[in-house]
Amino acid sequence: MSDVTIKQLAQVLGTPVEKLLSQLAEAGMKFSNADQVISSTEKVKLLGFLRRTHGKTEPVAEDSAPRQITLKRKTVSEITVNQGAARGKTVNVEVRQKRTYVKRSSVEEEQKVDSEREEALRKLGESTLRREGEELERAAQEKRRAEEEAKAAAAAAAAAAAEEEARRREEEARRREEEARERVVAESASTAAPAQTAPAATPPPARPQPRVESAPPRPQGRSDAPPPRPQGRPDSTPSRPPMAGAGAGAPRPGGSTDARPPRRDATTHHVPHRPAAPKRSDDTQNRNSGNRVKHGSHRMTEGPSPDIGHRFSGGELHLTAEERARRSNRKKPRGKPDLSRITGQHGFAKPTAPVVRDIAIGDAIVVAELAAKMAVKGSDVVKALFKMGVMATINQAIDHDTAVLVVEELGHKATRISDDDAETALIAHSEADHGDKESRPPVVTIMGHVDHGKTSLLDYIRRTKVASGEAGGITQHIGAYHVTTPKGVITFLDTPGHAAFTAMRARGAKLTDIVVLVVAADDGVMPQTVEAVKHARAAGVPMIVAVNKMDKSEANPDNVKQGLVQHEVVPEEWGGDTQFVPLSAKTGMGVDALLDAISVQAEVLELQAVREGRASGVVVESSLDKGRGPVATVLVQAGTLKRGDFLVCGVEYGRVRAMFNESGQQVSEAGPSIPVQVLGLSGVPDAGDDFVSVADERLAKDVAQQRNQKRRESRLVKQSTKLEDIMATMTQGGDQQTLNLVVKADVQGSAEALRDSLTKLTNELVKVNVIVSGVGGITESDATLAAASKATIIGFNVRADASARKVIEANGLDLRYFSIIYDVIDQVKQVASGLLGMEVREEIIGVAQVREVFRSSKFGAVAGCMVIEGFVKRNKPIRVLRDNTVIFQGELESLRRFKDVVDEVRNGMECGIAVKQYNDVKPGDQIECFERIEVQRTF
Ligand code: GDP
Repeated sequence: MSDVTIKQLAQVLGTPVEKLLSQLAEAGMKFSNADQVISSTEKVKLLGFLRRTHGKTEPVAEDSAPRQITLKRKTVSEITVNQGAARGKTVNVEVRQKRTYVKRSSVEEEQKVDSEREEALRKLGESTLRREGEELERAAQEKRRAEEEAKAAAAAAAAAAAEEEARRREEEARRREEEARERVVAESASTAAPAQTAPAATPPPARPQPRVESAPPRPQGRSDAPPPRPQGRPDSTPSRPPMAGAGAGAPRPGGSTDARPPRRDATTHHVPHRPAAPKRSDDTQNRNSGNRVKHGSHRMTEGPSPDIGHRFSGGELHLTAEERARRSNRKKPRGKPDLSRITGQHGFAKPTAPVVRDIAIGDAIVVAELAAKMAVKGSDVVKALFKMGVMATINQAIDHDTAVLVVEELGHKATRISDDDAETALIAHSEADHGDKESRPPVVTIMGHVDHGKTSLLDYIRRTKVASGEAGGITQHIGAYHVTTPKGVITFLDTPGHAAFTAMRARGAKLTDIVVLVVAADDGVMPQTVEAVKHARAAGVPMIVAVNKMDKSEANPDNVKQGLVQHEVVPEEWGGDTQFVPLSAKTGMGVDALLDAISVQAEVLELQAVREGRASGVVVESSLDKGRGPVATVLVQAGTLKRGDFLVCGVEYGRVRAMFNESGQQVSEAGPSIPVQVLGLSGVPDAGDDFVSVADERLAKDVAQQRNQKRRESRLVKQSTKLEDIMATMTQGGDQQTLNLVVKADVQGSAEALRDSLTKLTNELVKVNVIVSGVGGITESDATLAAASKATIIGFNVRADASARKVIEANGLDLRYFSIIYDVIDQVKQVASGLLGMEVREEIIGVAQVREVFRSSKFGAVAGCMVIEGFVKRNKPIRVLRDNTVIFQGELESLRRFKDVVDEVRNGMECGIAVKQYNDVKPGDQIECFERIEVQRTF
């Protein structure tokens, strides 16, 4: 048989020349161009190579290597317990570990494998056909030998052949190309090694037998085929049989020697492939893949090894560059788009010049906030302040001027916030649409001594007047309610205690028009009655006295009248201006008369308010309801509040979602002096906060936020009226100043004396106004009153109690203690005349609490004390206080800690104190150690 060129062979096989060349190259034969002649031996070699290749793909297709391997390990160890009750016990510890290795390359491989699989399948098809071809050829040879006998079997064979033909036709389209190629190769092989064909053909397999019968058409083909081979090959079916027949010899020589290697190869392929799956055996895999390269295995060479090589070369064992990038990106804060991933660059541009910011500063600013505005660290601002000589922590507020200095020091520009921007807008806004004034119902607060019947009276009125005729009645307490009487509507505030009344006034809210002072006719004037009178007078509110419990037999209204006259509350029938109404909250007697009296008083007051327009008023009460959120009871003072209105309420804002009256019924609007419960605020406002309804939510929000800011700042920089402030204002000229004083003294005589002498100090510059003078320690009530009236508190031989001190501190009140009347008068005189003289102040350096009193033959009474404030020093003067009132002033006889005489004892330590010439110390007393210092008065 003549040699053919590669081009011709490619034509015969119906494959592209390039592919054939590459297949030849893979089989280890070098052909550089298509016109080179390919010998029969080379064809056989190629055939062998292709078979091996096919053989290899087959098992892989059937049984793919494992993608993951799970390793399990169990270790059992023993622990001997050495502690506790179980000492000496041995515990078995079994540790089970399970580790799953997933083949890393399998995913990547899958895509490659897809294309490979196609190839493999194709090759599998080829090899199947080839085997069939072989069998056919073997059958044909047998046929040749038994040609005569074959005729007898021809009929049966025809049926089988037909069947075979039908099956082949099904696969024809797919395998035509391969078959043709195979035949050509086989043909050339048979010509090269005809001698080998016979022995190989001798053991015909059982299966080919049916195909033996398929031979009949072939005999002619076999004799005819060889000559026209080159032309006939690309031809259709008729030319195929001869080639199959001619090629029959070819597979066998190759088959007998080469057919096994592919199978062996297939098994070797299996075995090393499996351990190659886990990550750990990457190196093994690498080695194996090296072998595969020699064998020409696509799967293994293109499998994990290049990937592994790449990974190792990058110095990374587990992460590809891409993976690493992805993971490191994951660490970046969420929400910020990572430009670096997109552009490959970071998004930070180094500033080329210092950034100068405009820092807006109000009256005061907290250091931390200032730092945030300048975008510097808080500690840097503290440092800058320190350099300027200002000690401030990060949470402290500094005033405007200091803040400006720091801002400029740090290279920024300071601007002043006009604090009232939003407020001004708000005022302009709410004044815009106010109409004419109309008369409005009075707002009444009930005050009086405890147990004199305030609650009973309010309850009676509410029970009989509010709920009358309304189904359901009062469902909840809302802190205020209004009643309708024949003479008009009256609104009652149900705020308990005088402190609440004054606290509201202290916040600038003037809610009450009339105070009803409840005095029990059987009890008369009591301390809280007097306090109520003082509060009402300080607020400038007219009073009506309700002489309660008139149903009682021991009721004595005249006693009440006499008691009140002493406090300048004179009944009308005695020539005064105060209405006294005898009544009984229990029976209801006189209650209507009280309501009438209120209406009369209201008429006298000519209470008026604008009804039309935006609503404004005050918060009476507020709470956080679990289901409804912030709930505020507000008293409308002007305008009409409607559902759906936007509100600014103190530092809160919101929209009126719903309004309820005192009966719990929904209402759509509320006019002047009408209390309603409002839902829909952003937070819980404080009682006493004012509210204004505005047109839009934006303004409401702005105002609320600005107020919030201001409140925060002003909490730290408190303004209070001090004696020096009064003097400072005086020196600036202007009208007569009022100096309000709250005077408390140890005895009535001192209090009166002080009151008279101080009031007489009034001159054209200063009006000295003693708003309260009383006996006893300074209480919380005194302190709140002082705060509301911006008064200075004078304690003459009395001290403030703990709760009063809290209020004084919180409001930055001016509190002064004196023990000499002359000192008090002198100081106030200096203030009144605008003199800046020397001031003698008593500084309390320490307080000791008496725990127990012992008797000593040498010193008399020795007080076992605990120092609760500051120091107690032996050579300083002391005072003994009982119930916040000075009962003795003198010197220490001795100061000891245990047996030793000491000079001073610190806060938190125990000591024994003996007071010179005073033996009446009792447990619970306080011993106050003080010193006198002279201070130059300054503004
Ligand atoms: P509040 O502390 O001022 O609120 O006083 P309450 O209203 O709690 O009343 C104290 C006590 O006085 C209660 O036991 C009432 O029943 C009783 N009380 C109140 N008003 C009258 C009254 O007009 N007549 C009689 N007999 N008892 C009364």
